Amino acid sequence: MPALDFFSMTAVVAVNLLAIAVALPWSMGHQVDAPARHAQRFFMLQGLAWILILAASRLPVRPWLDLLPFLAASAAVWALWQLSRALTGWLGPRAPLLERGLMLLCIAGPLGFVVLIDHLSYRLAWFSLCHGLCVALMGCMALYPKKRVARAWRYLMFGIGMLMAASLVTRSVLTLHTSWLPFFTAESPVNHGFALVAPFCNTLLLIAILVAWRDEANQKLRDLALQDALTGLANRRCLENQGRLMLRRAMRERLPLSLVMLDLDYFKGVNDRYGHAVGDQALQLLARTLQKQTRGDEIAARWGGEEFCLLLHAGPDEVQALCMRLKSTLVLGSRLELDFELYFSAGCAHAECVWEGLTLEQMLLQADKALYQAKHLGRGRWETVSMRLSA
Ligand code: GH3
Ligand code: MG
Ligand code: MG
Repeated sequence: MPALDFFSMTAVVAVNLLAIAVALPWSMGHQVDAPARHAQRFFMLQGLAWILILAASRLPVRPWLDLLPFLAASAAVWALWQLSRALTGWLGPRAPLLERGLMLLCIAGPLGFVVLIDHLSYRLAWFSLCHGLCVALMGCMALYPKKRVARAWRYLMFGIGMLMAASLVTRSVLTLHTSWLPFFTAESPVNHGFALVAPFCNTLLLIAILVAWRDEANQKLRDLALQDALTGLANRRCLENQGRLMLRRAMRERLPLSLVMLDLDYFKGVNDRYGHAVGDQALQLLARTLQKQTRGDEIAARWGGEEFCLLLHAGPDEVQALCMRLKSTLVLGSRLELDFELYFSAGCAHAECVWEGLTLEQMLLQADKALYQAKHLGRGRWETVSMRLSA
């Protein structure tokens, strides 16, 4: 049986990666979002890096001995950078310390390679160390910050990152302290071992990326189903879902609950006078104003048309203060942005003590009645109804 050599093993890894790089865009389709595109580039650049190593192992003479490994090293860190962009796209901003660390190492790796160009083993040890730390940071980026529910693919990516990092750092140490790995493409058991670990990790990484892509696309669809398209606020369905949770929490923790229904005054006139597009801008302005004035545990939602709802754990006095703040901010904002003044009327249903059987629908009904009264009494004002359990 012919013995395994680094060249054949590298060729298998490179072909494997290039096959993935071609198959991935083809199977994901052309309309993929930015994170998926970054993930595709990751495999393409990884494949390119291994091709360059392959070429370097066949051309162990200068200038190729310097140039090809340097290009391979650059492609490898660039690939990792692409993967970090994919993670940011899927999971939102990553911990700044991890992002900055990765950027620094992605620059330091190839740069150190150039500085140590005449010291074959030192430059390999340096690059392996930097690359290993990059991969470790990447694994951590998949997991931190744990803002949303952590999914299995994130743990898988973390595990792969740590395994790759361990083998790269080991390679670095062995390069420095033994004579087993004199240069980048040497036929040595260390390189053979590395060429075995790499495809194993790449296969698991491919699985993690495909699952991430599917999970995040599904999550986006779920988010969209709960979001109002024009304003980006929660929609009616989201308010109903979250409202049930807030009602339960209010009952459990004996918190007050207020539902405020707001309606823009004479909004039909705004559309008629300034056009539908300006009307849309006015709705977006009110949505932003509501969003800014509410806290994380409160909900601002578009109920439909020019009607909005707020649900908060607050008493009548706090609601009164909030409505006053909203009124002045909206008047000021509309004067600045739209060149005319927007006003709203509001009805608030307030329950100081939430009881078993109280529903969001009952609160909406009472808030709607209060809103009707506010309109009837002249608009630009708010009315409150206190809800109590009748004996
Ligand atoms: P009131 O003070 O009694 O609330 O009067 P109003 O004119 O605000 O109320 P009315 O119910 O008569 O009109 C609501 C208007 O809101 C009519 C509709 O065209 C407009 N509208 C509803 N949804 C949208 C939207 O998404 N964009 C725009 N531009 N207008 C909308
Ligand atoms: Mg209305
Ligand atoms: Mg109105």
